[in-house]
Amino acid sequence: MPNLNSNSPENKSVIISKRRLHVDSKPGDMGRPVVVPEILPVYIKKLVDDGWEKHAFNQYVSDLISVRRTLPDPRDAECKKPGMYLEHLPKTSVIICFHNEALSVLLRTVHSVLDRSPDHLIHQIILVDDFSDIPYTKNELMDYGSSYKKIKIVRTPKRLGLIQARLLGLQHATGEVLTFLNSHCECASGWLEPLLDRIARNSTTVVYPAIDIIDDVTFEYQVRNNTAIQIGGFDWYLRFKWQSIPERERSRRNHSSEPLWSPTMPGGVFSIDRNFFEKLGTYDSDFYIWGSENLELSFKTWMCGGTLETIPCSHVGHIYRKRSPYKWQEDANVTKRNTERLAEVWLNEYAKYYYEKIQYTLGDYGNITEMKALRERLQCKSFKWYLDNIYPERFIPGNAVASGEIRNGFLFSKETEYCLDSFGHGQIQLYPCHKAGGHQYWLISQAGEIRDDESCLDYASNHVVLYPCHGLKGNQQWTYNEITQLLYHESTKKCLSINERNAKLAMELCVRNLARMQWIIENFNASASRMKEK
Ligand code: UDP
Ligand code: MN
Repeated sequence: MPNLNSNSPENKSVIISKRRLHVDSKPGDMGRPVVVPEILPVYIKKLVDDGWEKHAFNQYVSDLISVRRTLPDPRDAECKKPGMYLEHLPKTSVIICFHNEALSVLLRTVHSVLDRSPDHLIHQIILVDDFSDIPYTKNELMDYGSSYKKIKIVRTPKRLGLIQARLLGLQHATGEVLTFLNSHCECASGWLEPLLDRIARNSTTVVYPAIDIIDDVTFEYQVRNNTAIQIGGFDWYLRFKWQSIPERERSRRNHSSEPLWSPTMPGGVFSIDRNFFEKLGTYDSDFYIWGSENLELSFKTWMCGGTLETIPCSHVGHIYRKRSPYKWQEDANVTKRNTERLAEVWLNEYAKYYYEKIQYTLGDYGNITEMKALRERLQCKSFKWYLDNIYPERFIPGNAVASGEIRNGFLFSKETEYCLDSFGHGQIQLYPCHKAGGHQYWLISQAGEIRDDESCLDYASNHVVLYPCHGLKGNQQWTYNEITQLLYHESTKKCLSINERNAKLAMELCVRNLARMQWIIENFNASASRMKEK
């Protein structure tokens, strides 16, 4: 447990159980990694293991690092040019909800806000304790908070979950702008001004920063530079996914530090004008605990008159965990219920693609009359409009130009016919055709991708592989010619075939009338295909 007085500059040392580490060593400063030796005394090993168990990150290492550690400045020079941001920016309430968060991690989040934001722009910091049951969150945190007049601690009367806890925080928020932060973040230099600037220019703009990675093992702060920035999308399970920046968006901007339009946001960190959030009906108030609230707010922002942007000049680090450490009191269907509500209220006829994914196992998602009425009242645009204009990269299964098996014309011994098969672990292989769909069910998109859900047939470095679809064409763009039955790879000008010797997939110079290079694609609709004939 960190020394709670460690915030005062005179006493930056941190006490870890019986050990005292001095500032001279400054573990973790400038965002550097802290590596604990592999061989540890038994009692320390136990502390390390307990930390992982409770928090799903290396709490022991976090406790070694100052709650006011320094970070590298992750910004591009462009972001620091004079006159980039409006002089008068609105103040923000920062709302941080937490449930059983490690104290050093929570305090580092809070200090990163206090230390790296202009004081006059922080209206208040609201810490919403979502019914934590680990001891420090009561008196110690209260004592700590009371020495900072901007910090306000609010406690939920029972475990509410992230969504309802944020809404409780909102009731105490009086700033013009709301900034939501997860309880395991670190805000980097100059993070706030570029966010507030966009909202000051247009109060219907919702913004989120470039999310850097705080390593869960070493707490190293890993900057995501402009070339690594992605925008938010989703798949048909209605899960958030990162998406490469499409060409249309690159060419809309003059510089790689300018704001990017983003179809969705990851949800852990964002800023929004308070009135606009309220106009959008905040979150669906019947969403429980956690999940889908980020997509709900993303969809309604775009569909109901706003703009959602990611801001490359603003950087906030977040600890990504490999598992959720919380005890969920409700059953696991909670997140599914939220997603079902999301689909029913916002997706129109496209909801069916989600229902297909969950095999039509819809549960009781509650009453959505009010949400529908809100959508009506705000005269929000259709989901088709959103897909066409905001997220044209989203592959829509109904627009596929082919669906089913991809069979090779060559007969091996025993007259077995072979099909492209994804084997279910991201590998592409040949397997006897079984006509049962599953791993042999492919969709071809109008852009020429050969898709197994979100994975695409990709040819790179002499290997035919399945790779997450990137939507950038390039090595994922194929052209099928029904007459020659060749599957042509645009960027290398080679054709997919079967290697004669080892019977594996290969890429070769295209030859007509060669059985092992001929593919029969099920339900191929040549006229729907915009693919060029070869
Ligand atoms: N949280 C909460 N109550 C809960 C679950 C989560 O207040 O019942 C908080 C949690 O402490 C964190 C935020 O909600 O600050 C987001 O949760 P998490 O980090 O698990 O989400 P992820 O970043 O993994 O999407
Ligand atoms: Mn998180």
